[in-house]
Amino acid sequence: MEKTLSIIKPDAVAKNIVGEILNRFEKAGLKISATKKIRLSKIDAKNFYEVHKDRPFFNDLVDFMVSGPVVATVLEGENAVFKNRELMGETNPKEAKVGTIRADFADSIDANAVHGSDSEENAKIEIGFFFAKKEIF
Ligand code: ATP
Ligand code: MG
Repeated sequence: MEKTLSIIKPDAVAKNIVGEILNRFEKAGLKISATKKIRLSKIDAKNFYEVHKDRPFFNDLVDFMVSGPVVATVLEGENAVFKNRELMGETNPKEAKVGTIRADFADSIDANAVHGSDSEENAKIEIGFFFAKKEIF
């Protein structure tokens, strides 16, 4: 069974749609192995998105991710990384397919409701960023 990391971003947490988003994962057959609400520090957010540190949107991205609490979740299931990315939709909600989380709930490319690991390798690193082994079931 594959695992992946989902983050419900500050915009979606503020909209009170945490349960609605987690429900979509469960309905798609993904299991919640761990979940927590947490407010990232600026250093946390910079480390988490380090791959994007040279991109023009990096500072805005970091500021947005620390603007309020997020909900980090470990999802487990067959093809969990790909399945989660499919449920999320494209980065830019304007390009996201109807029925995806970003098409339904995201306001902009910055405030785009969710994050999902983009590979199994990154999923392992990202899960370790938020959770200790004993917190994952
Ligand atoms: P995430 O990593 O958050 O799951 P993603 O994998 O779909 O999103 P990435 O390319 O990894 O997209 O970009 C990380 C985040 O940076 C995006 O979710 C988005 O909020 C922001 N971002 C990406 N591209 C742009 C852009 N061109 N302009 C502004 N923000 C952007
Ligand atoms: Mg990404």
